[in-house]
Amino acid sequence: MQKITSIKGRLIYDSRGNKTIEVDVITDNKYVGRTSVPSGASVGRNEVINFPNGKPEQCLMAINDNYKKFLGIDPIDLKCIHDTIREIDNTDNYSNIGGAFAFAITIAAMESASKFLHVPLFKILTNKPKLEFPIPLGNILGGGLHAGIGTPDIQEILICPHGSKSIRDAVEINFNVHKELCNVLYEKNLNFTGGRSDEGGWAPEINNEEALEASCKACENLGYVLGKDVSLGIDLASSTQWDPKCEQYIYKHNKLQLDEEKQIEFVSDLIERYKLIYVEDATHQDSFEAMHELTNKFPNVFITGDDLTTTNKRILSHAIKSKSCNAAILKVNQAGSLYDALQFAQHANENDIKIITSHRSGETIDSQIVHIGISTGSKMLKIGVVGGERISKINELIRLSEYDLIHGMTQL
Ligand code: PEP
Ligand code: MG
Repeated sequence: MQKITSIKGRLIYDSRGNKTIEVDVITDNKYVGRTSVPSGASVGRNEVINFPNGKPEQCLMAINDNYKKFLGIDPIDLKCIHDTIREIDNTDNYSNIGGAFAFAITIAAMESASKFLHVPLFKILTNKPKLEFPIPLGNILGGGLHAGIGTPDIQEILICPHGSKSIRDAVEINFNVHKELCNVLYEKNLNFTGGRSDEGGWAPEINNEEALEASCKACENLGYVLGKDVSLGIDLASSTQWDPKCEQYIYKHNKLQLDEEKQIEFVSDLIERYKLIYVEDATHQDSFEAMHELTNKFPNVFITGDDLTTTNKRILSHAIKSKSCNAAILKVNQAGSLYDALQFAQHANENDIKIITSHRSGETIDSQIVHIGISTGSKMLKIGVVGGERISKINELIRLSEYDLIHGMTQL
């Protein structure tokens, strides 16, 4: 039987220049699986702890102290690897060793197994016979915690090329809209310097409506019909605006204060005015009722939980019961191990919750999330547009689309 013969962790740096960890899991002294850990800026309260006490060094120490417990395990036995991690840290939020430990070892082990078996990673993560490509969602404009002072309060404006005929076409459309939006912003605002957010979207000093108008204009300039060829989406990351003390959403740039009811009106108006297809975290992370209202009102829009559901199966069950979303973000490092995240995905799929597999704002050049997105039946893949750490994922999606054409996967 094939087995894990060595594990090595090290400190490297992410796209923000912050320390993170990278782990190599080697099978039969030959097949190297390598994974590094991303980090969020707008982190949900119910996410697991990425690094103990915020320190990647402590996570690395935990790997060095415990790696021998994994030697001899079959790398494809995800459950056994997960259970071994749980024997080391059985806290709900991986506070002893850090979710990064669980994230890196489980994904690196599966990658090592895929190399040993000579099959792509996505194939060993699922036994579904028929898979479809997720649509790449491109981040074209950034604000909030991803872009800083002066930028819109909305954290992300996204382009969804749902009318495209192929993955390559979809990717091309995303790049085109991103480029054209830069032209629109230069024309509109002499102060625009071409600065970008963490995820590669433009970071202009304009307000929410101006940002959405400019995004629509970029699509129209290219001849794309909104709602037919492409649609816009937004991530409001509303927990970053919500002040629980005064129970108001505080929009610093737009100088607005909204209570829950007004927030629902505000979001409904944006959906209708800009024909949005996708709205993430429209209200704050504890507002299951408000999210239910929006889900009820807009059944054809992806009303998506991110901080609301935090890739947590128990919280997703609550959201399903209260009908608080029809889609949910899957970020493996919100959950901890890949096993935890796949359990979440299974639960979502069994309950008609559409999955959107997503990057983090602080990323590395790893591209395994593309495989995870395909294997979990994700409808969309939130992987940004430009920047090396985003491009590495987009290019992996293109490679897989060629491979899968030959092997009979359906295109968009
Ligand atoms: C998000 O909120 O969807 C996101 C990708 O941001 P972060 O990684 O900062 O949580
Ligand atoms: Mg989000």
